[in-house]
Amino acid sequence: MKCKRCRKAAAAVDLPSHHSAFCPDCFFLFFRRQVSEGIRKLRLLSPDDRVLVCVSGGKDSLVLWDMLMELGYRTEGLHIDLGIEGYSDRSREKVLAYAGARGKEPIVVDLRSEGVPIPDAAKHARKEECSVCGTVKRYFFNRVAAQRGFTAVATGHNLDDEAARLLGNLLHWDRDHLSRQHPLLPEGPEGLVRKVKPLWRVSEMETAAYGFLKGIDYVTEECPMSRDATSLVYKEALSVIEEKMPGTRRNFYQGFLRQDREVIGSLGVPAGDEEAIRGEDGPEREAAHGAAAVPAAAFAGACISCGAPAYTETCSYCRLKERVIKT
Ligand SMILES: [Zn+2]
Ligand SMILES: [Zn+2]
Repeated sequence: MKCKRCRKAAAAVDLPSHHSAFCPDCFFLFFRRQVSEGIRKLRLLSPDDRVLVCVSGGKDSLVLWDMLMELGYRTEGLHIDLGIEGYSDRSREKVLAYAGARGKEPIVVDLRSEGVPIPDAAKHARKEECSVCGTVKRYFFNRVAAQRGFTAVATGHNLDDEAARLLGNLLHWDRDHLSRQHPLLPEGPEGLVRKVKPLWRVSEMETAAYGFLKGIDYVTEECPMSRDATSLVYKEALSVIEEKMPGTRRNFYQGFLRQDREVIGSLGVPAGDEEAIRGEDGPEREAAHGAAAVPAAAFAGACISCGAPAYTETCSYCRLKERVIKT
């Protein structure tokens, strides 16, 4: 099959959801345009931004970093070493190799030296491993960004990730999380740095194809602790539908973004309170896990232990760390 754009070279990437197939060069153009349009449409980043890119060593985050550098943004990489034997060492190596080849030195946070390696933290928390890991990562993304003067934190979540998360939130009618699911979470008053997901328009397959064709060397194994993650079930379900009806995943997620404002309105959250409900560890979640429920008006203070933005007196990271250290 010939490339549908240049009609000369052989097509290397088949994109049924776009009714298209591209040769490598035309695919690079397509991919770059999808990402830059995704940034422009939702005003995720401006040329003045200093962007902290969270790089795990997997394909999505390394492709994100690659793309943001190509688009001319000022970026630095942040790698969180999760302290998972073997897997974390291999992930860190990939990040250092990628960065080194581009004259960059990523910032590395080692959770073992912080006293909260994920395997230990997960044992002491009453939450799914991935959720514990999410809490710890978000904490350091924001802390490093705030301390070092970055204006935005970028993560490599792609369309498949966001659509799966949307499906999960809808299946459980998780209004709290639905109202905070967006590729852009603006900065908050208490040292919350803006969070963006510039890959929200590209699929996992497109991201993998881009990484492969660009020769980016990434960790291909999945995190050994995420095997039972519920998010994988939602992803699989959407893949079954996508295969029969190409384009459904994109329509599902983009339709949500178009409705987003209305959805937030219909959930009975007054516009002025949006600031209060943003972030990822909202009050409902905290309450569900045993901490005292706090009224909306009490959020966005500083953690009494570390000074980070918190919804309760002590932030969820510090409470987790205390449990790990105590036992
Ligand atoms: Zn072509
Ligand atoms: Zn804290």
